[in-house]
Amino acid sequence: MSVREYRQIMRRKSRKIFVGPVAVGGDAPISVQTMTNTLTTDVQATLDQIHRAAAAGADIVRVSCPDEESTAALRHIVRGSPVPLVADIHFHYRRAIEAAEAGAACLRINPGNIGSDDRVREVVKAAKDHGCSIRIGVNAGSLERDLLERYGEPCPGAMVESALRHLRILEDNDFFETKISVKASDVFLAVAAYQELADACDYPLHLGITEAGALRTGTVKSSIGLGMLLWSGIGDTIRVSLSAPVEEEVRVGFDILKALDLRHRGVRIVSCPSCARQGFDVIRTVEILEQRLAHINTPVSLSIIGCVVNGPGEARETDIGLTGGKGNHMVYVAGRQDHKIDPDRMIDHLVEMVEKRAAAIEAEKAGGGQESMVTG
Ligand code: SF4
Repeated sequence: MSVREYRQIMRRKSRKIFVGPVAVGGDAPISVQTMTNTLTTDVQATLDQIHRAAAAGADIVRVSCPDEESTAALRHIVRGSPVPLVADIHFHYRRAIEAAEAGAACLRINPGNIGSDDRVREVVKAAKDHGCSIRIGVNAGSLERDLLERYGEPCPGAMVESALRHLRILEDNDFFETKISVKASDVFLAVAAYQELADACDYPLHLGITEAGALRTGTVKSSIGLGMLLWSGIGDTIRVSLSAPVEEEVRVGFDILKALDLRHRGVRIVSCPSCARQGFDVIRTVEILEQRLAHINTPVSLSIIGCVVNGPGEARETDIGLTGGKGNHMVYVAGRQDHKIDPDRMIDHLVEMVEKRAAAIEAEKAGGGQESMVTG
C-alpha cells in the first residue's frame, strides 16, 4: 500500500468466507470473477472458456446450472477447472443440491425463492456438507412483488430489504458463509444499494453493475460504479458484466483494481496520448507491448512516453521507462537514465527487460524476499 495518505483506501471490515480455496472478505485481496456463456452441458467449450478466463487472471468463475443435465456436466467441469466455480441456480432447490454434490465451491441462490422451509434446510445442509458458500444475488430487475408494491419501484431500500430477508433465512438455518450482491444496471441505484447494504451487515459484498453494456460503454459504467464503491472501501469481490468475451471482463476488473492500487497483476503500462513531439509511434508501440507482455502475471510497471516533456517524470514512478528522443530513445531503470536504444530494437528490448524484471521479482519472492506489492 502507498504511504501517501491521499491514496489510502480504508476497506470496510467484512467477515471472511471462502469460495473453495479463495478467501473473500476480511483482509483477502479483492477477487475478480466472470461467468461462462457457453452451454454448461458442453463440458469442453465451458472448460476452454474457464481456462481462458483463468489465464486472464479470474480467481473465481460462475457457471449457470439451469437443468439437471447442466449439474451433471458441472461435475466434469469442476474436475478440469483451475479455479473454484460458483453454480448459478435460479429457483430449483434440487439443482442447488446437485451442484453442491458436483463440487461447486459456491451456490448463487436466493433462499427466499427456493420454496418451503424444508427445501431451504436441504439446500443449506448440502452446502454445509460439501463446503459450499452461498451468494445471495439481489437484482433490481427481479425484486419481490410485495417489496415493489410497498416501495413503488426498485430502489436502494427495497433491494437491501430483499437481501436482508434472504440473509435472515440462511442465518435462521445457522449458515453464515454468505456473500451478497445488490446489482442494478443503473449506476446510481447500484451504488446507493451497496452503500446501504454495507452499513446494514458485515458480510462480504460481491460488486457488479449488471447489464452494463458492450466493452467500451460497459467498462465506463462499471468503472464509475465499482470505482466509486471500491474507492470508499466497499467491495470484496467484483464482476464486470460486459457483452464481451470473458477475458475482457476479467481484464477490465483487474484494471479497475489496479487503478485504485487495490491489486496488482501483470504489466501496468503508463503511456502518454502522444502528439507532434513524439519520438516514436507511442500508440502502436503500446498496442504491441500490451500483446507481447500479456503473459506476464508479475506486477511490473512500465512507462512509454513519447518525449522528454513527461518521460523522465513518469519513468521516476515506474520500474522501467522509455522516453522518445531524436534518433535513439532513452531507457530508464528504477527511475534513472540507464542506456539508449535503437528504435528498431526497442520493442524486443523492452519485452526482454520486462521479462527479466518479472523473473527477478519472482525469484526474490521464492527466496523469501519481501513482497512489495499487494498481489494475489
Ligand atoms: S509526453 Fe511528449 S509526446 Fe507525449 S503527449 Fe506529452 S508532449 Fe506529446
